[in-house]
Amino acid sequence: MNPVIAVIGAGFSGSMAALHLLSALPRSWSVLLCEKAGSFGRGLAYGTDAPAHLLNLRAANMSAYPDRPEHFSAWLGRLPDGERSGVVVTPAGTFAPRALYGRYLAELLTEAVVTPGPPRLHLVHDGVTDLVPEAGGYSLRTEGGASYPVAGAVLAMGNLTGPGAPPSRHRLDPWRPEEFGRLHPDRPVLVVGTGLTMVDAVSSLRGRGFPGPVVALSRRGLVPNVHAPTKPWPVPDLTAADLASLTRLTRRIRAEIAAAARAGRDWRDVIDALRPVIGYLWRGLPSTERARFLRHLRPFWDVHRHRAAPPAAAAITAEIAAGSLDLRAGHILAIADEPGEAVVTIRPRGGTADETLTVQGIVDATGIGRIDETGDPLLRRLTGRGLARPDAFGLGLAAGDDYRLRAGRAGRLWTLGPLLRGTLWECVAVPDIRGQAVEVAALVAAEVERLPGLRRRAASA
Ligand SMILES: Cc1cc2nc3c(=O)[nH]c(=O)nc-3n(C[C@H](O)[C@H](O)[C@H](O)COP(=O)(O)OP(=O)(O)OC[C@H]3O[C@@H](n4cnc5c(N)ncnc54)[C@H](O)[C@@H]3O)c2cc1C
Repeated sequence: MNPVIAVIGAGFSGSMAALHLLSALPRSWSVLLCEKAGSFGRGLAYGTDAPAHLLNLRAANMSAYPDRPEHFSAWLGRLPDGERSGVVVTPAGTFAPRALYGRYLAELLTEAVVTPGPPRLHLVHDGVTDLVPEAGGYSLRTEGGASYPVAGAVLAMGNLTGPGAPPSRHRLDPWRPEEFGRLHPDRPVLVVGTGLTMVDAVSSLRGRGFPGPVVALSRRGLVPNVHAPTKPWPVPDLTAADLASLTRLTRRIRAEIAAAARAGRDWRDVIDALRPVIGYLWRGLPSTERARFLRHLRPFWDVHRHRAAPPAAAAITAEIAAGSLDLRAGHILAIADEPGEAVVTIRPRGGTADETLTVQGIVDATGIGRIDETGDPLLRRLTGRGLARPDAFGLGLAAGDDYRLRAGRAGRLWTLGPLLRGTLWECVAVPDIRGQAVEVAALVAAEVERLPGLRRRAASA
């Protein structure tokens, strides 16, 4: 059998890593792309089929390829009119349904699968449960009981979902609105979390015909800002002194925003200008300051950086104005499950008097989970075996600048995308990941070139 690199997870990160590996690896090498969920290419983000679930970035920023910025917009433009439903053109740019983006990614994979010549991309529809070190590589094991010998693997398991909100029998999964069931039209639903997942959850509830009251709760009750027209602003010239503390860095960025405002420009221009240097800023901050950011500043950063498409933001604003969406700041103290409902005790932010809320369902919209909350058997086994370890903040996996896992035992295991959150911080959106996919593929190929034993096997295969 030809030597193989496995890619585990076929969302955006894994699909793009697999496509770039096909170009970067010697032609005698194959790529095994493993996905446990329904479809290849879509992942958690683009698996939705609700037309109201829009991309939260403009189409112009969503090309799958860093060197072909028009690629997605051009694909969208080529669609027949009847297949472009849900695409919204606003003064802030064009926003497409996430379902269409999933179709775009699935088509890129299909093109690679049907390319003439010996097949080099093998799609495995199965969950990967283990990578057992064996004969200079690994034996990749799946839920379905199959095993494949692989020389190395790229872990692209992406957005880990975990128990963010306290458990309840009446918990509703925001990623599976089809399982919301029959909701009583007059009884409230609680959404825990007030970020972009809450925006989706409210849209899913309304899309499924639920007209009743929705309460959305988070510690600060902050909702994402809306996209607006932006213009390029120069990357702020930050020095090592600016990175000495979070307070200094925040002050410096606020000063830049004030300078932009004096020049008649929007704060969004400055936030967007920081994008290419976020990884550098994150790594430059002392570890204690990074931890302070996660404790105190993160919610404020998130609502400025991860903005909502204008139609999605307008829907939330209208709900709040109409009183059908009640936005609360506070935290949950207890949930008592009763038949058909949950009694939730809430401590309002800054208050001492607790409130109780009786709801028929609780949507956990707390977003991406932490690595220590995930039940993923592969991650549990890799960490147990010393082949992987969580990053310093428990958000994802510890990895180096070369995307290689940093753990007790050195291995040929790489990662990219949201699993790098603790290492790079901003690495969860398409513009961040598409460049990582190119880089990780080149690094894996360079490693393969350095393995004479494997190269000989490849040459004789
Ligand atoms: C709801 C949502 C909306 C988003 N919208 C946008 C947007 O509009 N624009 C943007 O730039 N970014 C958006 N993002 C950010 C998103 O993280 C990235 O764009 C990108 O989709 C991440 O892809 P991924 O492949 O790393 O992760 P995921 O999409 O989470 O895919 C990971 C895949 O790995 C599979 N998997 C996990 N474990 C295993 C296993 N053990 N074996 C086999 N398969 C496994 C999962 O089934 C999944 O399909 C959104 C994120 C979410 C959650």
